[in-house]
Amino acid sequence: MNRKDFITGMAATGTVLAMGQSLQAIADSFPIEDRLMPAYFIGHGSPMNAIEENEFVAGWRTAVKDIPKPKAIVCVSAHWLTRGTMVTAMKQPKTIHDFGGFPKQLFDAQYPAPGEPSLAEYVRDTVKGTAVGLDNAWGLDHGTWSILKPIYPQADIPVLQVSIDIAKPGKWHYEIGKELADLRRRGILVIGSGNMVHNLGMINFKLPQQGFDWATEMNDLFKQHVISGNHTPLLDYNALGKAAKLAIPTPDHYYPLLYALALQGRDEKVSIFNDKAVMGSLTMTSVRIG
Ligand code: ZN
Repeated sequence: MNRKDFITGMAATGTVLAMGQSLQAIADSFPIEDRLMPAYFIGHGSPMNAIEENEFVAGWRTAVKDIPKPKAIVCVSAHWLTRGTMVTAMKQPKTIHDFGGFPKQLFDAQYPAPGEPSLAEYVRDTVKGTAVGLDNAWGLDHGTWSILKPIYPQADIPVLQVSIDIAKPGKWHYEIGKELADLRRRGILVIGSGNMVHNLGMINFKLPQQGFDWATEMNDLFKQHVISGNHTPLLDYNALGKAAKLAIPTPDHYYPLLYALALQGRDEKVSIFNDKAVMGSLTMTSVRIG
């Protein structure tokens, strides 16, 4: 071995050791618990759910009522679309008001949950299927805070957001989702936040409590596959027929479902809540794993 190779080798070894120690230290700060934390897909719907009392926020609260207080929350949000996968790594993520045309009360709302930079590093280092970038610019968009504010109003649990690489297909997101399973063992709550049926261009405000026929058809089909545990047909939504093209004109709100389903263990139970279509072309249907 020549001198250059030796130095390069030493540097590489040092890097691995430093990363290993750091990973272990982070893992130790989130020790493995007896009980596996359930994981969720939550249909978030209107940003107004952040500040309104209604059946959907009540359903979210009921769905987490029996689980221990999470050590941290990792949320894959439909509203953070990137090239590559990012995880928020700042100490104090800002509340992002990424919408328009809503009352001032909603723009005034804040969700000052802390971040957890070490956990972001842990996610980066344990996900092997893609390079995960540490982000210090984003924060919590309404895909995350509009659901967490009603569920955990004290904002005292550290929250990380994970972005969606919108260039990648469904199966890819499902495989990356599987790599978040370790977090569940460590008391960390993993949530995918989106909507299974989500076509904003076809919203009909005259149908507040109803879905179009195609929305109901797709809601039933999604539920059927989720309950059966047969996720394969869900990975290529384009192959699910004409109604699927209306339900998923773009996959941003759909992919968070795949992250949640990917976390289902063999024979682990799954349940549906907030099973409802609203405004014709949206469903609030949500899923609990475990
Ligand atoms: Zn949304």
